[in-house]
Amino acid sequence: MKTTATRAALLGLAVGDALGVPVEFIDREARRRDPVTGLRGYGTHHQPPGTWSDDSSLTFCLAETLARPGGLTGLPDLVDFSRRAINWLDQAYWTATAETFDVGGATRTAIQRLQAGVSPTKAGPRSELDNGNGALMRILPLVFHATWQAEKPDLPAAWALTEAVASVTHGHPRSTLGCFLYLLVARGLLLGKAPAEAYAQAREMANHWLHTQAKGPAFMEWPHYAAFFEGSLPGLAEAEIQSSGYVVHTLHAALWCLLRHDTYAATVLAAVNLGKDTDTTGAVAGCLAGLAYGEAGIPAEWLAALARRADIEDLAARLGGRDK
Ligand SMILES: [Mg+2]
Repeated sequence: MKTTATRAALLGLAVGDALGVPVEFIDREARRRDPVTGLRGYGTHHQPPGTWSDDSSLTFCLAETLARPGGLTGLPDLVDFSRRAINWLDQAYWTATAETFDVGGATRTAIQRLQAGVSPTKAGPRSELDNGNGALMRILPLVFHATWQAEKPDLPAAWALTEAVASVTHGHPRSTLGCFLYLLVARGLLLGKAPAEAYAQAREMANHWLHTQAKGPAFMEWPHYAAFFEGSLPGLAEAEIQSSGYVVHTLHAALWCLLRHDTYAATVLAAVNLGKDTDTTGAVAGCLAGLAYGEAGIPAEWLAALARRADIEDLAARLGGRDK
């Protein structure tokens, strides 16, 4: 069962990423004139169809770390994850086409700090301006950790775990809060809830938890995610949904797409056609939609064209299979 879910999540994420790669940075107006309807090639990064980017690469690096013995129970081995992230940047480890491309600013700075010997939880830049979506895009495998899998998760412990893993590249609590809300929704989908139900439950849990965090870092950041916490998100008009590389925009945009569509394909195409940070919005929405609709919901022709599909499936089996 867990292998099935890990496959759906990892494949769903990589397909969403690959759909967005050829049109990354291009605005929504261009997508209105020329919507993405399937896997394209070349474009922004000059890559063949089915090529995924940093979002998937760093997700797979984290999945590798968590797949090691004990990785899904205690504190993840962040030194191991850091080594893999360095190898991704320097040696094209876990890349689609043996080429590292599409590296975010905070992520690059963090990896350079790791190479200089800074400890993992202190490596990520942590100013308010360092709130890109680079931790959000790679955090998903954490949902398979025992802390997040508990029947009644210890949310302060889940926050601490999420913060530690996010902080390797992004140390500001706004980024951690985005990751935390994303994992709450992903957890509900993993339990078999439909998107609206998973969001409603995540919202309720997050609001309840927030009130125990008075004046803490999460509490100070919640107004940035007011649309999530207050429940207005699904009803927003497209013009109110932004799709830049800002962590708040990406979380809201991906969830909005999930909540307003009812198939994997419609969800990820809506995400990519919002424009701008198309691959990351696609990856986050694709992962949620993969969990919601399962691997069978992902169009077969997209899976067939996906770079390193067999390697991703092997990784999913190693991540999800051991605890069965
Ligand atoms: Mg990318």
